[in-house]
Amino acid sequence: MKPPRKLHIKSYGCQMNVYDAQRMVDTLAGEGFVETASVDDADLVILNTCHIREKASEKVYSELGRLRVVKDDAARQGREMKIAVAGCVAQAEGEEIIRRAPTVDVVVGPQSYHHLPQLLARAQAHGRALETEFPVEDKFGFLAPPKPAAIRARGISSFVTVQEGCDKFCTFCVVPYTRGAEVSRPVGKIIDDVMRLADNGVREITLIGQNVNAYHGEGPDGRTWPLGRLLHRLAEIPGIVRLRYSTSHPRDVDDSLIEAHRDLASLMPFVHLPVQSGSDRVLAAMNRRHTARDYHEVIDRFRAARQDIAFSSDFIVGFPGETEEEFSATLALVMQIGYAGAYSFKYSPRPGTPAADMRETVSAAEMDERLVRLQDLIDSQQSAFNKAMIGKTVDVLFERAARNPGQIVGRTAWLQPAHVMASPDIIGQVLPVTIESLERYSLLGELAPAAAPPAPSSLSQMTTGA
Ligand code: SF4
Repeated sequence: MKPPRKLHIKSYGCQMNVYDAQRMVDTLAGEGFVETASVDDADLVILNTCHIREKASEKVYSELGRLRVVKDDAARQGREMKIAVAGCVAQAEGEEIIRRAPTVDVVVGPQSYHHLPQLLARAQAHGRALETEFPVEDKFGFLAPPKPAAIRARGISSFVTVQEGCDKFCTFCVVPYTRGAEVSRPVGKIIDDVMRLADNGVREITLIGQNVNAYHGEGPDGRTWPLGRLLHRLAEIPGIVRLRYSTSHPRDVDDSLIEAHRDLASLMPFVHLPVQSGSDRVLAAMNRRHTARDYHEVIDRFRAARQDIAFSSDFIVGFPGETEEEFSATLALVMQIGYAGAYSFKYSPRPGTPAADMRETVSAAEMDERLVRLQDLIDSQQSAFNKAMIGKTVDVLFERAARNPGQIVGRTAWLQPAHVMASPDIIGQVLPVTIESLERYSLLGELAPAAAPPAPSSLSQMTTGA
């Protein structure tokens, strides 16, 4: 029997890339590859790239420079190493990568991961292989079903892709160009995936998509199902105790989603809902197609449906032409909403996007100063949210042994890590934990004998005025 070949994947960026890396491992398992944590003994190294961050492609080329040295060392030892570039930089700049980086054997876009075995064979026969088209016949062909052993090794929480691509064309964003138009997977395929995961010990499912709540997959009844209806169906699958979804757009929050939050105990009361700015002029320039008031109304609908719901968001500071007054509108929105956490970034142009051609820039010093003010405010809200847990008893889904001997770590409904001293037998269970203290972002507590009382009261009460 041939010894297994070793595969090392280095992933950057979003949850979708983490998930895609797992799918590439599953696809290549059929070709005799096993994963290795070390790049040095790998037969195949895949850089799973992200185009969102600043200077993304330059970072890929410098990583490829380091990999070329490892590849040359392997060749001197008589061992062949292949290098593949995947992800959104591969999609956006495939031809350029082939031209600039002779060390690269395969370039593969996100819609073509199911062709990796054929691309590797093509590279073996012809030296190089490139595939970055959007195949129209089967957008989700890259989803090779994972083997039971792989599912069990990944633990009790799993991502499931339900939707790919985006039609929104926010002026700062490359996703519509790198991931293509919005397409939803049929309901039946998602149910099959979730049942297979549940049968192999998965207890929590996070449905993912670039615009997950734009989901409109075909149901078994031949009708189009929205995300809320899909969540209702998945909540019936035995073994699945928690459901989440990410990332949502405020414009696509419909009644079915609100009703799912009202009706499903297994749908976690924590929603990532990017707003990007609190200024209507900036939102219009970003082509977000909603106002600050629209966003507030969406938040109000969620809160009316489920009192303990909490939110996180994304913000861009220093979008072209953003004035101090417009930035203040963002701070005001954060104060009014009260977040459990948020990601905030300084604007940087992405080549090929409309915002990259906007002339009115904000100085680097102003951007730095605004980012600090925004992050201080968000940090204070997050800290208030976490501190409010102390003394409460909340449900925790236990995931794995923690680094400290004897400790088991899990997550609350709001994704906060929570540690208790307990037997590993509790892994995979949801148990009430009385929170005693907070260490940075982690909660420490002990297992409570009784069922958990209601979660913290309205987040806005805890954070307004922070
Ligand atoms: S909705 Fe999200 S993924 Fe789509 S263009 Fe806007 S920022 Fe990008």
